[in-house]
Amino acid sequence: MSATSHDVIVIGAGITGLTAAKLAVQRGLKTASIEMMMFGGLVININELEPAPAGAPASGTEYASNLMMEISDLGVENLSATVSGLGAGPGGVSVTTDAGIYQARAVIIASGAKQKRLGIPGELDFEGRGVSQCADCDGPMYQGQEVVVVGGGDSALQEALVLSQFCSQVHLAHRGTQFRAQQHLIDKLASHKNIQILWQTVAEAVLGGDGVSGVRVKDLAQGATREIACTGFFANVGLTAACEFAPPEIKRDAGGFLVTDGSMRTPLAGIYAAGAVRAGYGGLLSHAIAEAETAVASAAAALGK
Ligand SMILES: Cc1cc2nc3c(=O)[nH]c(=O)nc-3n(C[C@H](O)[C@H](O)[C@H](O)COP(=O)(O)OP(=O)(O)OC[C@H]3O[C@@H](n4cnc5c(N)ncnc54)[C@H](O)[C@@H]3O)c2cc1C
Repeated sequence: MSATSHDVIVIGAGITGLTAAKLAVQRGLKTASIEMMMFGGLVININELEPAPAGAPASGTEYASNLMMEISDLGVENLSATVSGLGAGPGGVSVTTDAGIYQARAVIIASGAKQKRLGIPGELDFEGRGVSQCADCDGPMYQGQEVVVVGGGDSALQEALVLSQFCSQVHLAHRGTQFRAQQHLIDKLASHKNIQILWQTVAEAVLGGDGVSGVRVKDLAQGATREIACTGFFANVGLTAACEFAPPEIKRDAGGFLVTDGSMRTPLAGIYAAGAVRAGYGGLLSHAIAEAETAVASAAAALGK
């Protein structure tokens, strides 16, 4: 176990965490960033952001890489570890990871969110063999083939639009009668003739042998079940907060996201939360940036910087 002292530790190197780390170090705070996977979080594989924040590159990969290079050049210590616990005490905050324990005067939780699973039969069995949650990464593998996309929000529509560039047919199944997505994405669907919208339709099972060969769907209006022959299945039905390590004193909303005040403060001294992990997060990268700014301003004020 190691114990290292920092002014600020940022948990998570998605866009919120990278932005927070950059702003903190620019204020002269000794800053570390802890990430358990690759930097970039949810946007690391997105080739075309819609919208991209003002002044940012159109590619999520490029945006995250630029931020990562900036924080490294500015002197942020990048630690590769999984955070498993947090404790606030009079001496500051201790961050427990699989690589040791780190101490900081302030911690910003920017651990974001994970894509939800539908929990239907076959979904996990065919992971990597036809089941994917990244159209930008895997789309080219479905050239000339049929796929099913599930969801009715921004990310499902974005995935369907990306896949339509490669696939002969994209079946977009949505349980509702209207989308909950940005209007410009809804408008774009109409010009992609190979996207078929299946309203009031849910996926019940992913079927196959060596790989995916079909999806069983149910038409909720008719009560009828049928099989769509396809080789790919992409469910984008929302996010679940990645904050198992956060102490129970930090309240969660009904969806499991961390509750803070408007200054991104949690009830625990020295612990802040921002971005997709936070209840009330707006959902776009522009919101991630704004929340990172607020969290750093709050932490810096508390540290007298
Ligand atoms: C498919 C899709 C497309 C999108 N497209 C757009 C778009 O075009 N434009 C737009 O504005 N927004 C878009 N969004 C929304 C945007 O991606 C998110 O709002 C934003 O990326 C959230 O950033 P974040 O840093 O808060 O969280 P995340 O991106 O989730 O980053 C959190 C990071 O924390 C790490 N982490 C988690 N737990 C731990 C732990 N215990 N220890 C260490 N590290 C940990 C994770 O590995 C991850 O790297 C899209 C989202 C999705 C899902």
